[in-house]
Formats: sequence, C-alpha cells, structure tokens
Amino acid sequence: MKLTILGSGCPSVDLERHGPSALIDCGKGAKILIDCGSGVTQRLLEHGVTGKEIDALLLTHLHSDHIVDLFQLIISSWHQGRSQPQKIYGPRGTQVYVDQLMKLWKPELEQRIAHEQRSSTKALEVEVTEIENGTEIKFGEMEIKAVEVMHEPVKHAFGFVFETKNEKAVISGDTKYCPTLIEAAKKADVLLHEVFIHDEMPVSVGLRTAKTLENVASYHTLDSVVGKVASEAKVRCLMLTHFAPPKFDREKLLSTVSTDFKGPVLIGEDLMTLDLERNSLSWKKMQISFGTHD
Ligand SMILES: [Zn+2]
Ligand SMILES: [Zn+2]
Repeated sequence: MKLTILGSGCPSVDLERHGPSALIDCGKGAKILIDCGSGVTQRLLEHGVTGKEIDALLLTHLHSDHIVDLFQLIISSWHQGRSQPQKIYGPRGTQVYVDQLMKLWKPELEQRIAHEQRSSTKALEVEVTEIENGTEIKFGEMEIKAVEVMHEPVKHAFGFVFETKNEKAVISGDTKYCPTLIEAAKKADVLLHEVFIHDEMPVSVGLRTAKTLENVASYHTLDSVVGKVASEAKVRCLMLTHFAPPKFDREKLLSTVSTDFKGPVLIGEDLMTLDLERNSLSWKKMQISFGTHD
C-alpha cells in the first residue's frame, strides 16, 4: 500500500501546499483518492496518475477546502479518457451536494457534450454512497472503514482506516482530539493526521480575531496534542498534513510533537509518498528506506 499526500495545505492559498487530498494506492482496482482540495488534479498528474485510473473518491467531510475541485476532477477525468462513472463515498449531504453541483453545470455540460462528440459520457455520471460511522468498503484486497471524527459544528465528518493483510494506514480527516479515531488507529503503520499550529497563528487585525482563533482551534488538533494522539494509538509512524498555517517553523513543530510521540514524525509535503510494502519514503529526488520488516 502506498500513501501519497497530494495536498498538505488548508483553505489558505499556498504555492507549496495545495488543498487537502491524498491517494491510497493498493495496485489495480484499488486506487483511492481521499478528498479533492484545490489543485488535486494537477498534483495527481505530477504524481503520474490520471483521473481515469481512480477507482473511488472518499470525502472526509463537506468543508470547501476538501471538495472545491470536485467538478474539475470529474471534467478532467473525462478529458483524460475515463469511461466509468465516478464513485464517490461521502458523509450525509454528499448526494445533495453532487446533485446541486451537476445541476449548476448542466447547461455548460450539455453544450460541451453535444459539441465535443467524445466516445463516452460515462465519466460524467456520479454514483454516490453516503457513509455512516463504521461503514465498510472493499476494493480488491483492501478494506476501508469509515470512522466518525469530531469536527463540530460540522456534522458527519470522517476519518478512514485502510487495511490489507499486512498493512494499516489511517487518515484523520479534520478533527479535534478524537478517542474513536485513536481506537481505530491502534497500531497502524502510519497515521496521517491534521495539525493546527497554534503559536504560528497570532491575532491579526483585519484577518482574524482572538475569537476566530479560539473557534478554529476548537475543531482541529493542536500541535501540542497530535503527538499524544499518535502515542495513545501506538502507531508506528505519524505523518502530518493539513498544516494550518501552511508556513511554520518545522524544527519547533517536530520538537513539540516529539515530546509526546517517540516514534518517527514526518512533516508531510505535497507529493510525498510512504510505501508501506517497501517500508520507504520518497519525495522529489529523496528516497529513504526504513529497512525491511521482520
Ligand atoms: Zn474541515
Ligand atoms: Zn480542512
């Protein structure tokens, strides 16, 4: 199983950290995209994957930073030769969201379909399955389980557990400290977790008030807490993503998180891949092997 971060950012625009998205690749029949934040299709292409190859899209929740490029994904996949409907799994409300999105673009799409005369329009069909806490989905040898996380006032927010015979990866989605997620992530090979870096977000006139900060921090996991999450879940490795803000002092973050979690902490980057089968990490030209399993 390979886990690739496609976008490690948050709603703030950043050139190095695009909107939240990740890819779990378990080979043929099990290429799963998680969220589709801003820039996801460009990052997929950089990673060498087209929308034609995606077997399913899982949505953690319906916050705009996680779904803003959904229509772009649908259209670009069609232009890349996709001839299968899009399969989307998401929280309650996903069906309505998709219906409204497709309705909004209907006149443009009808004109485009009639004018472009492509061989198939199957890629423009969307099959939505709404998930609940504990929903299980199987793709090839991989089992996926939805875990309801705590992102109030957003209702119906999820993390996901991906398991094969020998590997387990867990993605937090957006959440504050969440005991259900910790339980579900027990002994995972990797926990990809969001982080809110409190000290890097001062009050700023015209931008954010003290109340803004208090409220935003209240539904995310602080840098001072995410190490505890990994430690309590006893995961082999903690990989951080969804950095708010996207620019921060890396050394300070590592030192804060490592106070509670003694295992490897990876500061995620767009297009960083963790290969659980080979036990290796790659990013740009860098490749690190963590040795072989016993
Ligand atoms: Zn969110
Ligand atoms: Zn988010």
